[in-house]
Amino acid sequence: GDFPIETDTIVIGAGPGGYVAAIRAAQLGQKVTIVERNTVGGVCLNVGCIPSKALIAAGHRYETAKHSADFGIMAENVTVDFSKVQQWKASVVKKLTGGVEGLLKGNKVEIAYGEAYFVDGNSLRVIGESSSQTYNFKNAIIATGSRPIELPAFKYSKRVLNSTGALALDEIPEKVVVIGGGVIGLELGGAYANFGTQVTVIEGADDILLGFEKQMTALVKRNMKNKGVEFYTKASAKGVEETENGVVVTFEVNGEEKKVEADYLFVMVGRRPNTDEMGLEQIGVKMSDRGIIDIDKQCRTNISNIYAIGDIVPGPQLAHKASYEAKIAAEAIAGHASEIDYLGIPAVVFSEPELASVGYTEKQAKEDGIDIVAAKFPFAANGRALSLDSTDGFMKLITRKEDGIVIGAQIAGASASDMISELSLAIEAGMTAEDIAMTIHAHPTLGEITMETAEVAVGHPIHIL
Ligand code: FAD
Repeated sequence: GDFPIETDTIVIGAGPGGYVAAIRAAQLGQKVTIVERNTVGGVCLNVGCIPSKALIAAGHRYETAKHSADFGIMAENVTVDFSKVQQWKASVVKKLTGGVEGLLKGNKVEIAYGEAYFVDGNSLRVIGESSSQTYNFKNAIIATGSRPIELPAFKYSKRVLNSTGALALDEIPEKVVVIGGGVIGLELGGAYANFGTQVTVIEGADDILLGFEKQMTALVKRNMKNKGVEFYTKASAKGVEETENGVVVTFEVNGEEKKVEADYLFVMVGRRPNTDEMGLEQIGVKMSDRGIIDIDKQCRTNISNIYAIGDIVPGPQLAHKASYEAKIAAEAIAGHASEIDYLGIPAVVFSEPELASVGYTEKQAKEDGIDIVAAKFPFAANGRALSLDSTDGFMKLITRKEDGIVIGAQIAGASASDMISELSLAIEAGMTAEDIAMTIHAHPTLGEITMETAEVAVGHPIHIL
């Protein structure tokens, strides 16, 4: 056998959970090894957040280039070279993953390429392509992420694709069917709709984007319908038949069976945790029957020197949640008192318009019996939104009635993804609506919408009646 390598903290998985944990642990003086079986950056940088946003941005450019006549811009014969779009997407991914690798090395984190398998509570094996190596560790942080769920009736193939396949198409399809009206389905469906693909969305629930308010999702639905996207809600997908150059998808809606032809079927029905086949049961790590690992407020599993973060623990499967937990876990190992508090974690949909939410919604606050003020302000009353021709949308601010403290916010509108951070900060810092109303926001900016919504909350808005 080989000689085991001794390390303080071993991190398994180099996604936005794992690589952040490794860097933070190294900053705190630990000898750190990170194990990755694939590419540094995880799902997020390689086949998730980043490439999807690159594709969405390209589709958006194409779409707006064609529709800028209101600005006096006449662009005729705008065309897409999709292989160049893909090249550009790949170049963004490469820059970022290369950057992360450089950061790990710069922080003296050892990168061990291979598949991690736990031997016991203090050692694991990294099985590489041609060799394997044992590592002894004092603490471990599991950050192995998730993979697309595969439905038995919809096995992945050349024409039945998960998000990874959908991101990698080499030409713009004429028609796609998307099973799943969640964030990933609508983001990728929306991107292809902008490139001119005819998109059909099949969703089992009674609305798309469950978890976001209907007032918000209605804007997205209207925008997508205007681009020819068809929605079937309360619909159930039954099966798929592959033809020579496409698919026929069968689904049921209102007790009626329908068939629709397409070039591809995208199956985007959720993701399952990568917690199987790595020895976790043998060493006794406690998890749910769905494979989600139980953790305490410091991301510690039931085994006191083993931590878990990101898509494999309870809560929303989001990159920034993984990175947040990463910092908590690394600090907990270093003996700090850091604890997780999820109230300030934003959720964003990169749709048109963008949707973003943080903290309480009006409904959740009422369910929890909190006495609130819900203030609303439309994008249409903001000068910057007008000059951008982005007047679709609104902001809603949820404050506690007794003291005006901000406990939540929802935004539907251009740049909602960027604007939500100010409200995360407000929640994190325990600010009141008055604090935001009296913060000077540059003019003319979309950020003024935040100030104005806060003015509505305290009862004296300037720019609406
Ligand atoms: P991952 O990023 O999944 O990384 C886990 C890593 O562990 C992988 O690199 C994997 O190879 C490695 N690994 C697993 N098992 C082993 C093993 N046994 N040994 C060694 N290595 C192993 N989130 C957002 O916040 N914003 C977005 O805009 C967004 N867009 C998305 C778009 C798409 C199409 C998809 C699919 C996801 C998107 N997400 C987005 C979700 C986001 O990608 C995940 O929440 C995030 O990547 C989770 O990070 P993680 O570190 O937990 O795991």
